[in-house]
Amino acid sequence: MPARIATHAAVAELMRRYDYLPKKSLGQNFLTDPRVAEKIAEAARITLGDRVIEIGPGLGGLTETLTENEAAVLAVELDKRLVYILQKTFAGNNRVEIIQGDILKMDAGELMRERGWRTAKVVANLPYYITTPVLMGLLEGRLPLSVITVMVQKEVAGRLRAKPGSKEYGSLSVAAAYFADVTLTALVPRNCFFPRPHVDSAVVTLKLIDPRAGSDEEDLLFKCVKAAFGQRRKTLLNCLRAQTWINKGREELLTVMKGCGFDEDIRGEALSLDEFIRLARALKD
Ligand code: SAM
Repeated sequence: MPARIATHAAVAELMRRYDYLPKKSLGQNFLTDPRVAEKIAEAARITLGDRVIEIGPGLGGLTETLTENEAAVLAVELDKRLVYILQKTFAGNNRVEIIQGDILKMDAGELMRERGWRTAKVVANLPYYITTPVLMGLLEGRLPLSVITVMVQKEVAGRLRAKPGSKEYGSLSVAAAYFADVTLTALVPRNCFFPRPHVDSAVVTLKLIDPRAGSDEEDLLFKCVKAAFGQRRKTLLNCLRAQTWINKGREELLTVMKGCGFDEDIRGEALSLDEFIRLARALKD
């Protein structure tokens, strides 16, 4: 096999050898540019002794780069046939542990505890069809992760970094800003994958930060965010009034909003994270 897995030649050779065809339904677009794998490892600052959870290792292109940077990798792959190929490819490499399963049904915190990992990094070229639930699960799960470095669709990278008032701004943007400092590391064109996807990608790094609200406030904060973006064309006041968990009438709600410095006709999409936190605190009082 050619020296590097994340190349056209190696991906083609592995697929031929194992008579394997990628499944669109599982978001299988394998990396075919080793420089991109390097960029991801660099963005996550992978060094000796790092513990990494890799979601969706596929044929192992990124896994290989992570282990070359001397990380211990726990690779979670859903596709049983890929697990078989990975086990053959990484046989004898004691830095890699491959487990089969659906990351959405797994408890990443438990995986870490079982291995005695006090902290870890998550690194992945994510299957696009589950990007948002995977990221939300990792962020809301409050896992002891230092960093999450992921390749996502370019459009999702835009949503993760979007500012209030923009078209891309939504619940994912607020959650990302609340839980992490988000940086865009690289734009990755679609021709760096096989099969070639219909969209370009981007590598983003989410450096986890300490929560800024207490747990009651946090609960209210995300209820407000959900309400505000649930019906984007409605005013914030009307979005809030429609919530069953709100025990305030229109006038009382308006007073709370005015106390936060918001106009009656403001829309939720105009509120920054700080303003959502202010609103949650005011509703709690
Ligand atoms: N990391 C490889 C690379 O960069 O070439 C493959 C990335 S590919 C975009 C996404 C991978 O995630 C595929 O191998 C796919 O089988 C796997 N996958 C899809 N759904 C998954 C799930 N729910 N849990 C774990 N892995 C999943």
